[in-house]
Amino acid sequence: MKYRLILVLILAIWFPAFTGTFGQEATKMKYAIVIHGGAGPHPKNFTKASIESRRDSMKQALVLGSDILKKGGESLDAVEQVVRFLEDDPQFNAGVGAVYNAVGSHELDASIMDGRDLSCGAVAGVSTVKNPISLARLVKEKTRHVLFAGSGAEAFAKQMGVELVDPKHFDTERTWQRFNQIRAKIGDQGSWQKDSGLELQDVDVGSYHGTVGCAALDSKGNLAAATSTGGMSNKEFGRVGDSPIVGAGTYADNKTCAVSCTGTGEEYIRRAIAYDMAAQMRYRQTPIADSAKEILTNRLKKGDGGIIAVDKDGNITMQYNTADMARAAADSSGRFEVLWAESLEKETNHAK
Ligand code: ASP
Repeated sequence: MKYRLILVLILAIWFPAFTGTFGQEATKMKYAIVIHGGAGPHPKNFTKASIESRRDSMKQALVLGSDILKKGGESLDAVEQVVRFLEDDPQFNAGVGAVYNAVGSHELDASIMDGRDLSCGAVAGVSTVKNPISLARLVKEKTRHVLFAGSGAEAFAKQMGVELVDPKHFDTERTWQRFNQIRAKIGDQGSWQKDSGLELQDVDVGSYHGTVGCAALDSKGNLAAATSTGGMSNKEFGRVGDSPIVGAGTYADNKTCAVSCTGTGEEYIRRAIAYDMAAQMRYRQTPIADSAKEILTNRLKKGDGGIIAVDKDGNITMQYNTADMARAAADSSGRFEVLWAESLEKETNHAK
């Protein structure tokens, strides 16, 4: 009896440790993909129809990305294609549908990273490039540099022959109305100046739903991440957020995880948030969900934003400390879910 008990105890400890099922994160997925469509305030201002329509778009993006991975495609292609698809959807704050800056124009930011070799590319402040994420990929693949900004990025786009559009292409009635709402409230002062006396809620009026990002693991064990945004509504001309900053808004390393962030970019840049996810996993062996939780609870403050990430074993996390975040995940076990505004009474600091 006593020996049997000892045997059971040994097996209980040894078996999960041996199979890698010890602790909360265990399964090795063939592929996994996670997407965000922006974190932000309570989505109560969205109509039921627009909530459905955004969710539907996220679903299509998830199908697109997971199909690439299911067929043995590369995570780098999956993240680029997903983000490109969402850039072409006017419902999101990336590509068409990008928010307006303080001078009433659009400045788009994007970045992409390959976890195989840490190669990465980014563009900041572009205004005629239809799909900034694909230009970011060209920076990664065709140059020795990482980040091109403004007119230099536009010149590079011309050289590469990517599709260029009139800046009006990015206009939408929805973002224009929001811009005017902000202006009606605060006038045309430099709203982001420290001494403006204005809170973020005053200058951004619930508009930071809509940045897009994707992180994926493919069947060869390669991780990749991509992020694209129009930035924050009414941002100062020339302001660059975290989305095109590798290590802040985007990161991928096959040794740890792939990450895309959304939220108040300045806070993510200061704390190198995307890299912090990888660092916690690398140096402290912290599970992916705990790394995100630590950041959203202790490093960022409530209301700052969200994080999506997938680790080298295909564990996914999607967390936020805002009222909500549009998010979607799929993996080789059959998981397929799109979540946003499920409950309009959702608590903050939701973890999943
Ligand atoms: N992080 C983006 C920026 O600061 C905005 C967002 O994710 O909503 O530009």
